[in-house]
Amino acid sequence: GNAVRLQAIKDVEAYTPPVVSFTTDETPGEVFGANVFNKVVMQKRLPKLVYKSVMATIEQGKPLDPMVADAVASAMKDWALEKGATHYAHVFYPLTGLTAEKHDSFLEPVGDGSALAEFAGKTLIQGEPDASSFPNGGLRNTFEARGYTGWDVTSPAYVLENPNGNTLCIPTVFVSMTGEALDHKTPLLRSQQAMGFHAERILKLFGHDDPEHIVSFCGPEQEYFLIDRHFFLARPDLLNAGRTLFGAKPPKGQEFDDHYFGAIPERVLGFMMDTERELFKLGIPAKTRHNEVAPGQFEIAPMFERGNIAADHQQLLMTTFKTIAKKHGMECLFHEKPFDGVNGSGKHVNFSLGNSELGSLLVPGDNPHDNAQFLVFCAAVIRAVHKYAGLLRASVASATNDHRLGANEAPPAIISIFLGDQLADVFEQIAKGAATSSKDKGTMMIGADTLPVLPTDPGDRNRTSPFAFTGNRFEFRAPGSLQTVNGPMVTINTIMAEALDYMATELEAAVADGADFDTAVQNLLTEIITNHGAVVFNGDGYSENWQIEAESRGLPNLRTTLDALPELITESSMELFEKYKVFNHREMHSRYEVGLEQYALSIGVEARLAAEIGMTLILPAAVRHQTEVAQNIVALKSAGLEPDSAPLEEVSAPVAALRTALAALRAAIDTDAGESPFDQAKHAQDALLPAMAEVRAAADFLETIVADDHWPLPTYQEMLFIL
Ligand code: ADP
Ligand code: MG
Repeated sequence: GNAVRLQAIKDVEAYTPPVVSFTTDETPGEVFGANVFNKVVMQKRLPKLVYKSVMATIEQGKPLDPMVADAVASAMKDWALEKGATHYAHVFYPLTGLTAEKHDSFLEPVGDGSALAEFAGKTLIQGEPDASSFPNGGLRNTFEARGYTGWDVTSPAYVLENPNGNTLCIPTVFVSMTGEALDHKTPLLRSQQAMGFHAERILKLFGHDDPEHIVSFCGPEQEYFLIDRHFFLARPDLLNAGRTLFGAKPPKGQEFDDHYFGAIPERVLGFMMDTERELFKLGIPAKTRHNEVAPGQFEIAPMFERGNIAADHQQLLMTTFKTIAKKHGMECLFHEKPFDGVNGSGKHVNFSLGNSELGSLLVPGDNPHDNAQFLVFCAAVIRAVHKYAGLLRASVASATNDHRLGANEAPPAIISIFLGDQLADVFEQIAKGAATSSKDKGTMMIGADTLPVLPTDPGDRNRTSPFAFTGNRFEFRAPGSLQTVNGPMVTINTIMAEALDYMATELEAAVADGADFDTAVQNLLTEIITNHGAVVFNGDGYSENWQIEAESRGLPNLRTTLDALPELITESSMELFEKYKVFNHREMHSRYEVGLEQYALSIGVEARLAAEIGMTLILPAAVRHQTEVAQNIVALKSAGLEPDSAPLEEVSAPVAALRTALAALRAAIDTDAGESPFDQAKHAQDALLPAMAEVRAAADFLETIVADDHWPLPTYQEMLFIL
């Protein structure tokens, strides 16, 4: 049983990572975007009018003129063929959270038996992958297995290199026959549209007559683990579930993180350089760097981009990391909690809104007028997060993220906002300001007062808050490392659309009534901070007290995925998403069902794995050890000694406990959980998870007493510290 593990250790020692050497005659400028069909390429290769039309779609959100598709497709094909592409693929983002691609060859047979490279406008605009194997939550009847992919003009096409031939990749949306969303991109585009529209109404009130289209920006910070691939392959749990289902805590944990920080293993550096270069080619503005939290854990934070592009790039980044890690003999783990007792991984979603002309609208200005505008957008965030805290929580709910949220390393499941003392104080003064007509001490008058200088130093930030103002953006820290950023971004955009719509409507009405604009803003801000200020919390989110205080403030505390998902189908959520044309009711129900299905599926896999590994690897190892101890007693006896039976009891008790726990787990797996996705998810949470925990407790204890040369699985110590 031990052979696999010991061999893995030998193999790790013998492994030589590939040498990364970049030619020095290549400037970063040449590499960046080299494989992207970007604006520069389009400007060079498209007829002027076609280029203008495409740009109007990308930059102004104008509908795509179908007449230009053929010209774009033809230019794209020529460019891709020059880059060595043989195939093209519509890339889409199904509800599994993964990336899917449908590949087709450029070559189409012609009558005389030869083939021509063809790529028409209609092929660019629309594809028809078989949708039957993707989750849809009841949206697609089985007799209509067809799904449609549609070109997202705003996200640039790119060429993906592969030793077997390059592929032109076209980012697309994925919808059903009836136009309902089967993916994560469709709602993101819809929600961005809604949010931008209402943000522009606010800007008009502030005197920006014809503002450029407002979009959302997203800068995702991705945490991940790297482990040697030999160990990965010797751990069926990592291989199949992405996390260790067994493993005793190592004698040395993450308490020495400062030591680790000093020394990035050479092969990790090689990996980082290699990924950076690949990402650059794909136009992903990445900066890899070391992260100090847990052994084997790292972080990458690409520069923020327009929401839907950041989301596509984020998916591409994850695929690239997986591929390049393999090339360097490592496995990249994106699971939120691959190792118990060691920090988990998140994916902070940095959010702002704005455009290239105005920058981020969440940046304080340097005069009272600009400040007022900034405060209005901040107040929109406060109202949105307070009113729809449950939806934000639901947007990060998954079986894997449940291991992380509220575990004193990630924000708690209670959604609150951190503003920092200065900004919180400003809002407090505003609340007072409206009550007094004169300028009392400690009040703030919109249109007259300037803001205090708000700190942007990251050192000052509160890291326990799920939704924190960080100087020019808000940082949503609850998303998990394995998730797409689409879900959280859809929710943030939509709840912001609602808040901005409400605020624009109030202000427009006041202005129409002849009210003074500054006074109207003041009254509105006062109203919002009075009604929604409960969500602002600058204290320690990890503290016991906050749990109690949050409850008295009426903030929801949705601890688990099953607590959170029903938020998707409440009356108010469904109305919200329908009103802003992001999801209709059927689509909301579909997301809810898929959420439950994914939850039950992933825990179901873990349960079966735990049973199998426990039964076929751990129990046999423990029994072998037990036999040796028993044989030793016999040997001692026959040598005329009086042996102590305690060592045998010491191993026999946990072996018996493991047997009992395994039997219980198998019984739970075999129990009929019912038909509905909710019943199955509930069974996973209430029966499978506790049964797995019992098995693990017995197994992890055995790991601390069974002879090392019997132990079949690479240990935490080996996986985390040998790179
Ligand atoms: P920290 O670790 O201090 O949170 P990082 O540098 O790791 O900061 O990550 C910050 C992330 O926020 C980056 O992806 C960055 O591009 C992004 N970001 C910066 N400004 C904005 C903004 N205005 N809107 C959205 N994201 C932003
Ligand atoms: Mg951050």
